[in-house]
Amino acid sequence: MVQPVVSPVSIPPLPVVVARSRAGKRLSIVAPCYNEQEVLDLFFGRIEDELAQLGVDYEIVCVNDGSRDHTLAVLLRHHQRNPKIKVINLARNFGKETALSAGLDAVIGDMIVPIDVDLQDPPELIGQFITAWENGADVAYGVRIDRSSDTALKRFTAQGFYKAFNRLSDVDLPYNAGDYRLMDKRVVDVLRQLPERNRFMKGLFAWVGFRQEAVPYARPERAAGSSSWRYWKLWNFALDGITSFSTAPIRVWSYVGVVAGVLAALAALFLVLRTLLEGNKVPGYPSLMVVILTGFAIQMLAIGSLGEYVARIYQEVKGRPLYVVMDRYGFDATPGADA
Ligand code: UDP
Ligand code: MG
Repeated sequence: MVQPVVSPVSIPPLPVVVARSRAGKRLSIVAPCYNEQEVLDLFFGRIEDELAQLGVDYEIVCVNDGSRDHTLAVLLRHHQRNPKIKVINLARNFGKETALSAGLDAVIGDMIVPIDVDLQDPPELIGQFITAWENGADVAYGVRIDRSSDTALKRFTAQGFYKAFNRLSDVDLPYNAGDYRLMDKRVVDVLRQLPERNRFMKGLFAWVGFRQEAVPYARPERAAGSSSWRYWKLWNFALDGITSFSTAPIRVWSYVGVVAGVLAALAALFLVLRTLLEGNKVPGYPSLMVVILTGFAIQMLAIGSLGEYVARIYQEVKGRPLYVVMDRYGFDATPGADA
C-alpha cells in the first residue's frame, strides 16, 4: 500500500501553484487549555494584538480539557468580552491530542492554526504562516531552531524518538516540528475524516501530505504556569506515536525466529559433533539444549506469523483512507477539484 510521504525538508513551491490571497478569508485558532488560568490573559493579549494586524477575520476556538482550576471561568470572561473567542468545554481531561481534535472538528475557518496557550508558540509567527500559505503552501509548520529551553535529557530523548519513528514508520516526522502550524481547510478536512481513535497528531499531520513548508523559530520558555508533561507521559506519547504508525514491533518476531532457528541449528550441530568426538560428559545436556533452542525458534516464528496477521488487522481497523488527492486537473465539477 503506497502512502503519501512527507519529506522533512521544505518542498519548493511548484510552478502550477495558484497564488492565494488572505482577503475575505477566515483564520481559525485552536487552543487546547489544561489548567492555564495564569497564562490566558497574557495569551489573549498577545494573540488578539497580532490577529488585529493580519487583515483577516478570525475565531479563537478554546478547548477546556477538563481543567481543575478556573480556566473555564477565565475563558468565558474572555468570550463575553470578544465573541470571536469561542469555548468548548470537555467533560473531563482527555489529553492534548484529543482536545486538539475536538477543536479541529469545530472550526469554520479557511486556515487553521493549532496553538499552545502558554505562549511557547509565538503568535507573531502566524503572519509568516499566512504568507507561506498565500505562496502556495497548504501547511506551514513551525520548526524550533534551538531547543535550549529544554533540558539536555529532553533534547536527547526527543532526538532518539524522531530517529526511531522515522526509521520504523512510512511517514517522516520533520525534526523539531510541533503542533504549531497553519493548515489549509482541505488539510483539516482530511484530518477530520481519519476515524482512528488513538490520535497521534504530529504523525497524522505528516501522514496527510500536501505542500508543507517549514518556518523556523526560536521557542521561548512557558510564559506562566507549568508544563503538564512528565517523562512517563512523554514515554507513553512516544509509544502511541510509534504504535500508531508502525507495525514493526509485532512483525519483528518472525525475523528473530529465523535468526534463532539458524543459531539453534548451528548450536545443535556443534553439540552433536562434540558429543560424538568427546563423548557425553553431562548426560542430558546436548539433547536438552537442542530441544530448548529449536523450541524457542519455533515459538518465535509462530509469534511472528501471528504478528503478520495482527499487523494487517491493525492497518484495516485504523480505517485510514487509502490515499489523499491533493488536486485534480481536467475533471468537471467534482468534489475536491481545485477551483
Ligand atoms: N494541554 C491540554 N491537555 C492536557 C495537557 C496539555 O489541552 O492534558 C494543553 C496545554 O494547556 C497547552 C498545550 O496543551 O496549551 C501544551 O501543553 P504544555 O505546555 O503543558 O506542554 P509542553 O509545552 O511542555 O510540551
Ligand atoms: Mg508548553
